[in-house]
Amino acid sequence: MLLNELAPGVTYMTAAIVNLHTIDLDTSRWVLVDTGVRGTGPAILKAVEQRYGSGAKPECILLTHGHFDHAGSVESLARLWDVPVYAHVLELPFLTGQSSYPPMDPTVGGLMAQMSRLFPRGPYDLSDHIRELPSGLNLSVLAGWRLAHTPGHTPGHVSLFRESDRVLLAGDAFCTVDQSSTLALVQQPAEFHLPPQYATTDWVAAESSVRELARLRPRVVAAGHGKPITENTAERLEQFAASFRPPKKGRYVAQPARFDERGTIYVPPAPPDRAPAIAAGVVVAAATAYGIRKWRKAA
Ligand SMILES: [Zn+2]
Ligand SMILES: [Zn+2]
Repeated sequence: MLLNELAPGVTYMTAAIVNLHTIDLDTSRWVLVDTGVRGTGPAILKAVEQRYGSGAKPECILLTHGHFDHAGSVESLARLWDVPVYAHVLELPFLTGQSSYPPMDPTVGGLMAQMSRLFPRGPYDLSDHIRELPSGLNLSVLAGWRLAHTPGHTPGHVSLFRESDRVLLAGDAFCTVDQSSTLALVQQPAEFHLPPQYATTDWVAAESSVRELARLRPRVVAAGHGKPITENTAERLEQFAASFRPPKKGRYVAQPARFDERGTIYVPPAPPDRAPAIAAGVVVAAATAYGIRKWRKAA
């Protein structure tokens, strides 16, 4: 796997099913944004050492949120590098061993929703390295970047925006691939799509977060899932925000999960889930095999 240039001093790398980023602070200092799924730590290390030199380590790690595909390697990397890990206060319960995320929603539809039956939902325990993002979300080390609280997918999700050249790192506030379409997952056309549906637990908040990000009128956008979008970006994101439609059905569509500083405090009841377990298992196995092959190929 390689770090690909997204914008001056900003890279992205696809680790298995998810993207992560580096941001250069100057010629030698940098920040890692998100950490991929568990087990991709060695590939991340190799890629960052290619760019920053042997033994290089970031000033800190910033997590857009604590889901397993963004925080999966954070425990191993934070301990190896002994660097702080920043996250929004509302994500901390999921990163300090206090609370699990609400259950994934396989009833929302699509391949990834079926796969989500097997996705872990935490928590991680990073108590020795975790730091709460400062109030106002001004992280002094990231000069020139604005952090935006973009809840909905998770309660403490944050996105990063660099005003000077309008670069947006959106995490899972939305996707640039349609995760509900098997075809799109293989072909990966870069278009704006809903955040990962099986793991989004407040659709009203998710919509207002997308609208807030659209108001930034970004020129370059990279999300946690899918390829970057660099052409007619602001117009396309504005259209997506204006036509935002939550899924037709799903556990969290009519009613959100609720959270506070202790983590998850309410989840709506599970809707009927009639998908045969065996069929779901076959889908999971096939998709996992595909993911592993792809990861090995890219590594
Ligand atoms: Zn997520
Ligand atoms: Zn994700």
